[in-house]
Amino acid sequence: MNHSHIENFVRDIPDFPKKGVLFKDITPLLANAEASQAMLEELLAPLKNIKIDKVAAIESRGFFFGILIAQALGVGFIPIRKPGKLPAETITESYSLEYGSSNLEIHTDAILPGEKVLLHDDVLATGGTAFAATRLIERLGGEVVQCAFLMELSFLNGREKLHKYQINSILNY
Ligand code: AMP
Repeated sequence: MNHSHIENFVRDIPDFPKKGVLFKDITPLLANAEASQAMLEELLAPLKNIKIDKVAAIESRGFFFGILIAQALGVGFIPIRKPGKLPAETITESYSLEYGSSNLEIHTDAILPGEKVLLHDDVLATGGTAFAATRLIERLGGEVVQCAFLMELSFLNGREKLHKYQINSILNY
């Protein structure tokens, strides 16, 4: 299955969760085993010769493929979550949204200093969310070796915010 075929399993939902946003719905992709497998293979392809100790992914749509990537690589999975969800000691990073701001948290013992971490989320839009996640990983002493996304909304220039990192995004809009 090639890129354009995988693309058929991403559904555009206009004005969700609010007016003016074209939401990229990946539930059709998740519902199709062959398309999900093809997506996973695309995500894994550039990782063959890269050493990775952990996969960290952002709540909640990052978790779906984040766990699949971690399992395929044979490494541990680290959830980066919305405030108040992680039970043990955490650190927090705030980031700005279109209106206001939000926070992400990680357990302080999730990553050991020097560990090489792959960061994953479903969509790279403005890059604010992923950038906050890279800060959490780095504050724990981890090294972000790649930021991997199912898709990138390139007109929002998220790559600029993540210019320090290697980026793999499978679908581009
Ligand atoms: P940003 O911080 O602007 O890069 O936004 C990325 C986060 O918001 C990711 O966790 C995405 O799941 C979500 N997101 C942003 N825009 C969209 C969109 N058009 N469709 C689906 N998810 C989106």
